[in-house]
Amino acid sequence: MKACRTIASLRRALAAAGDRPVGFVPTMGFLHEGHLSLVRACRKENELAVVSIYVNPAQFGPAEDLQRYPRDPEHDSALLKKEGVDILFMPGDTEMYAPPFRTWVDVRELDSKLCGRSRPGHFRGVATVVLKLFNLVQPQRAYFGQKDAQQALVLRQMVRDLGLPVRLRVLPIVRDADGLALSSRNVYLSSAERRAALALPRSLELAKAMIREGEARSRALRKAVEAAIAAEPLLALDYVAVVRLQDLEEAPRIEAGNTLIAAAVRVGKTRLIDNLLLGDLSC
Ligand code: AMP
Repeated sequence: MKACRTIASLRRALAAAGDRPVGFVPTMGFLHEGHLSLVRACRKENELAVVSIYVNPAQFGPAEDLQRYPRDPEHDSALLKKEGVDILFMPGDTEMYAPPFRTWVDVRELDSKLCGRSRPGHFRGVATVVLKLFNLVQPQRAYFGQKDAQQALVLRQMVRDLGLPVRLRVLPIVRDADGLALSSRNVYLSSAERRAALALPRSLELAKAMIREGEARSRALRKAVEAAIAAEPLLALDYVAVVRLQDLEEAPRIEAGNTLIAAAVRVGKTRLIDNLLLGDLSC
């Protein structure tokens, strides 16, 4: 595996690899099995597998956890080597945002709902860094997790709007045995907080069971998920949304193949998200 810290060395490594189809997995590191599921698919479906690790400051708000975001580049790098990754790109901030940096990508409407409400500017940071990474790596396919479903929708819109020559593959949420979606941020949780956090996946399981029983009213599903989260005193609800994929708006009734049930909570200082998807986000 070739590890590159600069754009120039990434370009050299890509050029040396020749004209092979490139798969790309962008991450912020502190890798877990969720990330590795993307890496494995990327390896399987492409001749050249490129992974980036970059904690992108532009997608963190001023009061968010940029400084304390968990990092372990040596361990990450060993994991990726074991997975057979060809190129690891680990740029620094001056490489990615060399001053004066003045170009930003706004994916309007989709960026201001759900997580965008409590994280203004977050999706602008995500879209901008991912477009830059796509331009640098020039992948045929890029791999994302359904865990960040709104992110995948924002990026899908960007790919369509700008005619980017990349296919997005959005893969299922990988969970711990107890049901909690894997996240680099789970290390912040105390054991009591972690137990409380399980109300989040449980609330979505409840929605799934209700749908199976025939419930199709968005409001009834939203209220049930909200109540299941509210029943856990250590959780503070950020939002529950039962929305259509095209505009993230709630319709009176859910539609098979076109519904996202997404929720965000705070447990102590930690913000957690999870979702249930009826549909496919790949493009
Ligand atoms: P991050 O390092 O948090 O930016 O995540 C990098 C990629 O891994 C994103 O596309 C995430 O959606 C994906 N990802 C994070 N957690 C999971 C998970 N539990 N299951 C599947 N994919 C995940």
